[in-house]
Amino acid sequence: MRKLATVRKVLDIAPIPGADAIECVTVDGWKVVSKKGDYRIGGNALYLEVDSWVPEALAPFLCKDKREFNGVSGARLRTIKLRGQISQGLLLPVPAGAGEGDDLTDMLGIQKYEPPIPADLQGIVKGPFPSFVRKTNQERIQNLVAELEEWVDAGLEWEVTEKLDGSSLTAYLFQGEFGVCSRNLDLLETENNSYWKLARENKLEALLRATGRNLAVQGELIGPNVQGNPYGLGAPQLRVFDVYDIDRGRYLTSAERMALLDGAGIVHCPVLDTQNLAGASVASLLASAEGKSALKAGTEREGLVFKCLSADVSFKAISNKFLLGEKEF
Ligand code: ATP
Ligand code: MN
Ligand code: MN
Repeated sequence: MRKLATVRKVLDIAPIPGADAIECVTVDGWKVVSKKGDYRIGGNALYLEVDSWVPEALAPFLCKDKREFNGVSGARLRTIKLRGQISQGLLLPVPAGAGEGDDLTDMLGIQKYEPPIPADLQGIVKGPFPSFVRKTNQERIQNLVAELEEWVDAGLEWEVTEKLDGSSLTAYLFQGEFGVCSRNLDLLETENNSYWKLARENKLEALLRATGRNLAVQGELIGPNVQGNPYGLGAPQLRVFDVYDIDRGRYLTSAERMALLDGAGIVHCPVLDTQNLAGASVASLLASAEGKSALKAGTEREGLVFKCLSADVSFKAISNKFLLGEKEF
């Protein structure tokens, strides 16, 4: 689960040109605009990440519009721009008794905001997401400042793919049983469920059975009703981004994944580049995340996902340009 509310050290505080009541505070790779003087360099602050659903009692000033999520009145933290400065998330004073590194997400009743699920994606639940497959998830580069430095020094090579803005699909074959899952649930096969429709259309069961292995194909379902259909599609489509080897407990490498998909008529997420991270910083990766989607002319892409070619590590850089333009779903 995402640690949405953590106590972190304030690394830097910078003035914002033309603004005298606010300043820009850095925690890890995040920039957060706060009231001047609320925090000091080297001190601690409670940091709430973007996509946190913050209960009204914690931040009443954010809750002028009454909104509810899972029965809790509150607000969703987004990426905003204040006086030209990008601001992501929220800083609050550290609650008494808490110290650096503490995860207060549950204690403070903070939830990860999720948009409502469209009817054709809902499906009928067969069970929880299977424990033998890894759930799809990518850590944000803003939380990987120290790791990034090591990766740059090591000169590792990375596969760079476009991060598509849809809904996560997993199709697995395990001990003879084929199943299809949404991000968090194993779904019963039904005629109209979009995840199952795509699994059938892409013949994922036959693909997996032919390998004689326990594997899971993971991809993004994109299309009408999903995240506002940014690619303007007429029907749901699948774009694969990973294959998980259940027996070995690791993802296939990029080459192994491409070899499996090759000739099967299954489309991969756009692969933009293979590169090392020479000279990269959080700021440079966030800048490179901005750009147009390979799927539709003129559409801002959500960002990039970097997968290491030689180790089982990956991360994402989300485009701030995309986040600032995001609509409410
Ligand atoms: P959040 O965690 O904020 O809900 P999210 O649903 O996009 O955002 P993330 O953890 O941010 O999930 O990012 C990982 C997700 O990105 C994966 O679950 C997958 O559905 C999606 N995705 C889209 N394109 C790619 C890609 N090229 N490589 C890997 N994952 C991708
Ligand atoms: Mn995530
Ligand atoms: Mn997503």
